[in-house]
Amino acid sequence: MDSQSLLESLLSELDIALFQSLSPTDDFPMFQLLHEPPSWVTAFAGIDRSNPIALTEVFSYLEAFLPEAQESWADSNNSRANSGVWTEVDRQGKTQQLEALALLVADIPLLVLLNLTRNFDERHHLYQRAREIALANEKLIIQLNHRQRELQNNLEKRLQDEQTLDDIEESVRNNASAVLICKPDGSVEIMNQALIDIYRVKEPEEQNESLLDKWLKEAEAIYPEIHRVVASGSYWEGEFESHSESGAPKWIRLAIGPVLDTSHKLTHYVCIANDISMLKKSSTEIERLADYDFTTHLPNRRHFWKQLTKSLDKGVQKNSVLALIYVDLDHFKRVNDSLGHHAGDFLLSTIGTRLARCIKHGDFIAHLGGDEFAIILELPHSTINIEKIAQRVQSAICKNITIDNATLKMTASIGIAMYPKDGRDATSLMRHADLAMFHAKKMGRGKYQAFMPNMNYEFLQMLQLEIDMQKAVEQEQFNLVYQPQVCCGQDHYLRLEALIRWKHPLKGSISPARFIPIAEENGMILDIGIWVLEQACKQAKRLLNDGFNVIMAVNVSAKQVRQENFKELVNIVLKKTGLPARHLELEITETTVMEEMEVVVELLKDLRKLGISISLDDFGSGFSSLTYLKNLPVDNLKLDRAFIHELPANEESKAITTSVINLAHELKMKVIAEGVENQEQVEFLTDKGCDYMQGFLFYYPMEAEKIQEIFTAIRGVANH
Ligand code: C2E
Ligand code: MG
Ligand code: MG
Repeated sequence: MDSQSLLESLLSELDIALFQSLSPTDDFPMFQLLHEPPSWVTAFAGIDRSNPIALTEVFSYLEAFLPEAQESWADSNNSRANSGVWTEVDRQGKTQQLEALALLVADIPLLVLLNLTRNFDERHHLYQRAREIALANEKLIIQLNHRQRELQNNLEKRLQDEQTLDDIEESVRNNASAVLICKPDGSVEIMNQALIDIYRVKEPEEQNESLLDKWLKEAEAIYPEIHRVVASGSYWEGEFESHSESGAPKWIRLAIGPVLDTSHKLTHYVCIANDISMLKKSSTEIERLADYDFTTHLPNRRHFWKQLTKSLDKGVQKNSVLALIYVDLDHFKRVNDSLGHHAGDFLLSTIGTRLARCIKHGDFIAHLGGDEFAIILELPHSTINIEKIAQRVQSAICKNITIDNATLKMTASIGIAMYPKDGRDATSLMRHADLAMFHAKKMGRGKYQAFMPNMNYEFLQMLQLEIDMQKAVEQEQFNLVYQPQVCCGQDHYLRLEALIRWKHPLKGSISPARFIPIAEENGMILDIGIWVLEQACKQAKRLLNDGFNVIMAVNVSAKQVRQENFKELVNIVLKKTGLPARHLELEITETTVMEEMEVVVELLKDLRKLGISISLDDFGSGFSSLTYLKNLPVDNLKLDRAFIHELPANEESKAITTSVINLAHELKMKVIAEGVENQEQVEFLTDKGCDYMQGFLFYYPMEAEKIQEIFTAIRGVANH
């Protein structure tokens, strides 16, 4: 047999067809088959050796792959491009699994078609078996998770209700799950028999390292974010290999839940562990066959780590740049809690599919577990606009999803870390992407953030700030300042907005823009908010008593509005301070309304019935849809500083401002412009009929005494 026929038999045996691209730069390139076609090739119409073939017409899937193929033909350094597997039905109706490879060999542009059907068929029964095991395991795991969470909730509640430790100990003594309740420093309060059985631990006082510390260290290898999650008082769960005193390592599934007291101080951790070594043993079999997660069908955490290490090795060799994008869905727990785990799974798989679609072939996406996804991108150079990619990921997530008649709009917080700039090994890269994600979350949800070297430091600062904030209320470190709003026409009210200030004993004055988001995140805003409301009402009442006819505007956060008894709380404060409701205005932001529109609308209606007026704050900074405005029971619209700042130079801001003012007036709302700093802005706004203005041009926010002086002066002018 001559070498040519040997080669052809080999290609046929390997189910390969080899084509030369005759016009590699054309939009409709022609190809020439280079050998006698194997039978699976002729099973597709229009392919033979004698004539050039328009392959994209035979396999329309190839059209999408063409630009990438052309890139590799044009560049002798960029050796090959791979299409990924796709399926195609041939003339006999048989489904074939195909893959295309574009390469440049001796300057000849080649396209290789590989038929993987045989391979797939052989592997099919293996996958089938893997699936069966996985399903059985998954069922057990779901039951276990459920049990674990139930116990966790139960214990947290008991601790919050201040039941005695003896009572709690009694209730977990014989529980099948291992239970450890410890103080934040790791010292043991309660430990049950199941825990002693897993670890054969000694008496707590004989241990030189706390079990909590040991777990944190062991879990860190695959969950680098664990320290951050636990330290910031969030719930954590995961699986990892743990070593006991008595030899063989065990796989445990661990949940760590923080317990906070009424002033949001961390008092305990409730840790629940289960030995899942047996389950893992059978799962190893599945993982060997399929490194995939069964909810989203994406690579799982384990696969992700392997891939990240592999990509980094390649990165080192090729001197290339990698981006690690860490995606964490916002408020996923709410979906799970309100619509059930079934809906949660559907949501995850939908988002998984969308994410997989929005990345390029050759990039890698994994579902790390829970509501976390990660994407690894290989970038040709470091100047690629990674933010654009982050935006694309964000917009893929935030498209509507309909589950059981409920339409949801999810957002995610996204963190980005780059190799080699932000880390040279998998663990530090991952830790930094996670830190960046955490910052994005703190900035408000739905944001993305690239890692910056000062983040480690900032994170510690923020934790410290949270601790300090707990003291701030008790030690009266907060105070209120007031900023008058100027009326453009006639008004018998004097209007002012209350703004909080924090005088930190060591750090000086801290801006609310910095600490309010943290207080919103950790729930302290509820205590702070009620304090603000009471102080502001007291001050308004004082001014009223002095004969000033004021309206006091108070900012309220989404978390406050979502409190079940918010209306009652406001009412109590009004009664306590003696301020008539018509002198109080509440400022809520657009995003607060958007989040739970129907509930908030009802609440606002009720508040207005009491006589309180409502302002929609920061209008224009969020999603701002003019169409929903007409359904909102709102008295005033506060145009965001960002628009006013650009007036009158920016045409777009001018147009938006004008149409918002007109529309608001049609809807019988008044418009307040925020952040007015110069005379041109005043002229433009007055010309357009804006009702009130607030800004440094008129008054800076100031202490209560100063307000008295200014109002007295204004009254003096008015009386003349
Ligand atoms: P906001 O409610 O939109 O308040 C207006 C902010 O704009 C204030 O910043 C004010 O000092 C600032 N400002 C006023 N005029 C000008 C101007 O001409 N130019 C510029 N550049 N800025 C101006 P501040 O006091 O730092 O407050 C920031 C944000 O913090 C507030 O925005 C509000 O969202 C929040 N906040 C303040 N106090 C409270 C509070 O008691 N409770 C809650 N929940 N949030 C508060
Ligand atoms: Mg405000
Ligand atoms: Mg505002």
